[in-house]
Amino acid sequence: MQPFGSHLEKTYLALPSPFYTINKPDKVVNPHMVICNYTLAESLGLKLSNEYEQSLVEVFSGNLQGDTASFSQAYAGHQFGHFTLLGDGRAHVLGEYITPQGMRYDIQLKGSGRTPYSRGGDGKAALGPMLREYIISEAMAHLGVPTTRSLAVVASGEDVIRERDLPGGILTRLALSHIRVGTFEFAASQNNTDYLAALVDYVVQRHYPELMQGENKALDLIQIVIEKQIDTIVEWMRIGFIHGVMNTDNMSITGETIDYGPCAFMDAYNPNKVFSSIDHHGRYAFANQPRIAQWNLARFAETLLPLIDQNEKKAIERASTVVSQFSSRYQEKWYAMMRKKLGLSSKEEHDGKLIKALLEWMFSQDMDYTNTFKDLTYEKNGLSGRYEQKTFIEWHKQWLSRRSKGLSDEEAIALMKRSNPVVIPRNHQVESVIVAANNGDYQLCKQLLEVLEKPYENHEKWRNYQNPPNPDEQIYQTFCGT
Ligand code: AMP
Ligand code: MG
Repeated sequence: MQPFGSHLEKTYLALPSPFYTINKPDKVVNPHMVICNYTLAESLGLKLSNEYEQSLVEVFSGNLQGDTASFSQAYAGHQFGHFTLLGDGRAHVLGEYITPQGMRYDIQLKGSGRTPYSRGGDGKAALGPMLREYIISEAMAHLGVPTTRSLAVVASGEDVIRERDLPGGILTRLALSHIRVGTFEFAASQNNTDYLAALVDYVVQRHYPELMQGENKALDLIQIVIEKQIDTIVEWMRIGFIHGVMNTDNMSITGETIDYGPCAFMDAYNPNKVFSSIDHHGRYAFANQPRIAQWNLARFAETLLPLIDQNEKKAIERASTVVSQFSSRYQEKWYAMMRKKLGLSSKEEHDGKLIKALLEWMFSQDMDYTNTFKDLTYEKNGLSGRYEQKTFIEWHKQWLSRRSKGLSDEEAIALMKRSNPVVIPRNHQVESVIVAANNGDYQLCKQLLEVLEKPYENHEKWRNYQNPPNPDEQIYQTFCGT
């Protein structure tokens, strides 16, 4: 069975050869299906059926290889601020699938074996982190956040050696493309302006054809990528998502959230919250994410200087002007998003104060981020517990009075329901799913995924998924799983 039709396109290979290496996934001996996203497949016009599950396993494990070879991409990146040459060290792009609607998606296997970019790594992935990526990326998609998608996870049937032996896994990932800020850093590192120009042309043609006729494509590209990234980060802030490793190699040029490593959703609101075990200084803490995105975009802009203007000084000036707009654009979009979370229409002078006062109170009281907005959205007969504190009651009065200036109660609540999810993939739930899956039980995973498909529906029967962890269920750290 060939789920992607007779062939996959590989337009990426038209780039100069240093951008990739043609190579094949490793074969594995005894793979089996853990989870396959038949719903996603159907929406993309892919004809997958569980009748042929074993043949699908052969494709998604990398055992059944198409008529033409797959490839791994070269890239570079600033990891925790330091520049390094990288590349797909454990991933193979099978090719580009075109949907019946004409959308183009990279199909990539992750955890599929060593490549020339593996450095010291084994090219493999443990099942746990691949399932984590599947669960969280699918949750993000249902939450309405730009993201890569997950089509399947197979267990490789082999153990991978980490601190202890763990079952191995391979993820099939779909992305508008896997081109990253780091791909541009790689191009710039080659000291060949033609390579850089080829990459800009490719990205513009593939992702931003509206820029094709522009007078300065490189500058326009910076501008549009900034907007895309702002939109995505604002969405992360809306739902309490912490990416955890916002290195420039983990920042997609399309604005899709990519490379789910030690990411997690906040329970209690804390702007300084960090989950990642390797983020010792809080570089990628929740509230730092916009700042880091801007830092990453400055690295992106630097790579394009030779194409912006031959005069370096002028190029820097023009690029800096564009990048410096990040803060005000971000602020504007963040406030617009927060207003929606509170059911406020239009802009009023004191909205900022109102929003920040709520967040400060939430922080001081360890309030659950998702549930506080859920409670404000679904409150019927008054709120109890910590909501009975004077500070909150006063804030609540002001909020309702401000809210009533714009929309009717009904309209405001409808807006809030669209902006405030009631279920998110809480870290303790994700961890329990992974523990069960490592023992061969995939039922918990399927149940969690079903709930996460409808994050804006407030069902009584899903209460368990809405509760923050009990003290003994708290997960304080997440690991990259490399
Ligand atoms: P990540 O932290 O997953 O974004 O990965 C950072 C870099 O390390 C990328 O170039 C990955 O391809 C590479 N890498 C991660 N895990 C492995 C592994 N097990 N084997 C080889 N390379 C890896
Ligand atoms: Mg990465």
